[in-house]
Amino acid sequence: MNIVLMGLPGAGKGTQADRIVEKYDIPHISTGDMFRAAIKDGTELGLKAKSFMDNGALVPDEVTIGIVRERLSKEDCKEGFLLDGFPRTVPQAEALESLLADLGKGIEHVVNIQVEQDELIARLTGRWICRECGTAYHTVFNPPQVAGLCDKDGTELYQREDDKPETVTKRLEVNMKQTQPLLDFYESKSVLTNINGQQDIQQVFADIDALLKGGRG
Ligand SMILES: [Zn+2]
Repeated sequence: MNIVLMGLPGAGKGTQADRIVEKYDIPHISTGDMFRAAIKDGTELGLKAKSFMDNGALVPDEVTIGIVRERLSKEDCKEGFLLDGFPRTVPQAEALESLLADLGKGIEHVVNIQVEQDELIARLTGRWICRECGTAYHTVFNPPQVAGLCDKDGTELYQREDDKPETVTKRLEVNMKQTQPLLDFYESKSVLTNINGQQDIQQVFADIDALLKGGRG
């Protein structure tokens, strides 16, 4: 059960990742966690990665891929793993393929949680925060009783720069442009499945679950 999970910000990837690893009892391997663990363990690659990060530089692919390789070689990945946030590019996907081949493994499923851009924008721009107490609201999922005002203290709510429509739209477009070649790559390998992420959370998971179960037989 070797899985790569993909989805744009706001697609609900984190929620589904939690459910998949719980049900299938496989480790959730996110890029951030992997780097933090390698640095904490003081591995040679971890220290290399840290020196780039400390200088505010991007960690080069060869270091990242080395860290992925170390992580996927560990005992807990024997029965499978869920990769999240890696690969990000086609060269990384190719490197992943060859390192897995070395380990006698391969990717069985690339699960892409698909949500239309308008819906992602609605989800990602709904956040409003109280200036006074910091309570966060969401215009769709958790609206305040009076629009624009905090339930607790009546203070006016504000929107962070990161949550404003222009910022969110730009971020999504950059993300989509980066992701498309990777989706095409996995499509060409016949391992990609698009899951409709615009259903309720339970149904999204039911669809993923049906796919993964099918892959077992
Ligand atoms: Zn407040």
